[in-house]
Amino acid sequence: AQIQIGISACLMGDEVRYDGGHKRLPFATDELSRHFSFIKVCPEQAIGMGVPRPTIRLVGDPIHPRLQGSNDPSLDVTEAMQVFASDTARQLNHISGYILCAKSPSCGMARVPVVNDAGQGLGKIGVGIYAKKLMETLPLLPVEENGRLNDVHLRENFV
Ligand code: SF4
Repeated sequence: AQIQIGISACLMGDEVRYDGGHKRLPFATDELSRHFSFIKVCPEQAIGMGVPRPTIRLVGDPIHPRLQGSNDPSLDVTEAMQVFASDTARQLNHISGYILCAKSPSCGMARVPVVNDAGQGLGKIGVGIYAKKLMETLPLLPVEENGRLNDVHLRENFV
């Protein structure tokens, strides 16, 4: 069987972003797809947020932030995302790697913007809620994000 890799669905060109757009990563769709079979996951769509949907962001304590609506703190999907992430990680415990979409409050593996409860920026110091739970549940899984795969050395390391 082909080697299986998880990937943020928007990187495969699926129009699942908040605005109905995608972030197709040609390296994945055109090159890696010849060697691997991808398991596409859009966590925000999967927890029922729909497309299009309100934007969400990381709010509060940078280590344990909430995942809330950018314009509506009463929209809080933190627990829903964590439950989905642990369930998915357990189902995907056979995969050989995961490519995450950078900067997303759900999928970003590092350097995701966090704001405090007053909405003031605390810097790009967060980890997406889905990505964090995925990496905690499957600590040995090789994980990369799209921006870093443009770096030829990181790319070769991952592959
Ligand atoms: Fe969905 Fe993650 Fe892509 Fe956002 S970054 S559209 S949550 S797959």
